[in-house]
Order: sequence, then structure tokens, then C-alpha cells
Amino acid sequence: PAALARAEGLIARTPDFPVPGVLFRDIAPVLADADALRTVTGALAAPFEGAFDLVAGVEARGFLLAGAVAIAAGTGALPIRKAGKTPRPTASVDYALEYGVATIEAAGDLTGRRVLLVDDVLATGGTLRAATQLIERLGGAVAGVAVVLELTELGGRAAVPAAHAVFTA
Ligand code: IMP
Repeated sequence: PAALARAEGLIARTPDFPVPGVLFRDIAPVLADADALRTVTGALAAPFEGAFDLVAGVEARGFLLAGAVAIAAGTGALPIRKAGKTPRPTASVDYALEYGVATIEAAGDLTGRRVLLVDDVLATGGTLRAATQLIERLGGAVAGVAVVLELTELGGRAAVPAAHAVFTA
């Protein structure tokens, strides 16, 4: 539909950020546009309607999406944070980056919760795979994974096969 096409056109592309050779996609202009934010938020959650009761987002852009989806769906939201930002983490997961290792953490007991995991970009998939593991370690069930943009040539879908992407590039 036209509203989705318009939202897709707002995604900014910056060559050589954060390092040479990378074409960085920025959804900030989508977030800043009322119609695009509503359209993309709806499209993220649509396949999972009624199947989740909590929305998790990965720091930092995922927080904004998780909050928006949660309010629209009438659920709560869960921040998944980078290492060292959570006072009493109850689970943490280490995962490989292109260079080095990263850790994500969260706190709480997700026993019996059906969690929709959202983020802005699916690149290599390492972050979202780690986040699904984190939700499971907290006792939750992953009801779905949804991203605004999947960068298909990076092959991240292999790490999160069931991911729903609103847009692909
Ligand atoms: P991964 O490679 O799929 O693990 O992506 C790592 C993290 O970096 C995820 O949280 C993505 O949202 C983010 N990321 C990777 N590439 C881009 C990009 O082009 N734009 C914005 N975020 C990105």
C-alpha cells in the first residue's frame, strides 16, 4: 500500500558509516513521521496479533519500536540492554560480533509470557538470535521476531529463520 511505500522511502542511507564500506540504514526519519510510525508499527505486529502479551526491544532503536508496538497492542514492553546497564540482570547472553564479542542482559521472570521481539534492522542476525536466547533464559516463549528492515545479502535470516521483515533491501 501507499502508506508503506512512503514509509520505506523515509529510511535514510549513509555510505561508509560507521566504517568504510558499510551502507548504514537509519529508520530515525520513519520514527519522526507520525503516519510512517503508525504504519510501520502496525505492519511489524500484524502477523502476530493476539499471539503475544509482551514486546521486547533491543537497545537502542528497538526500544522505540517496542514501546510503540506495546501501546498499540495493549501490552507491556521489555528493554533488552547492552552489558552493564541493568541493575540486577537475571539473564545474559554473549554473542559474536564481526570483531569481538558483545553481551546483552535483561531482568525479570518471563515465565508464561509470550514475547514479540522487535528491532530496526536484521543484519547478520547475531543480535536477534542472542535476544531470542535471552528471552528463553528468562523463562519466556518467543511469539515472533519482527524487524523494520532486513538486509538480505548479509544472510541474517539463517540465524532467525522465522523473522518477519516489513521491508527488505
Ligand atoms: P546484527 O548484525 O543483525 O546482529 O545487527 C547488529 C545490530 O546492529 C542490530 O541491533 C541492528 O539493528 C544494528 N544494525 C546493523 N546494521 C545496521 C544498519 O545498517 N542500520 C542500523 N542498524 C544496524
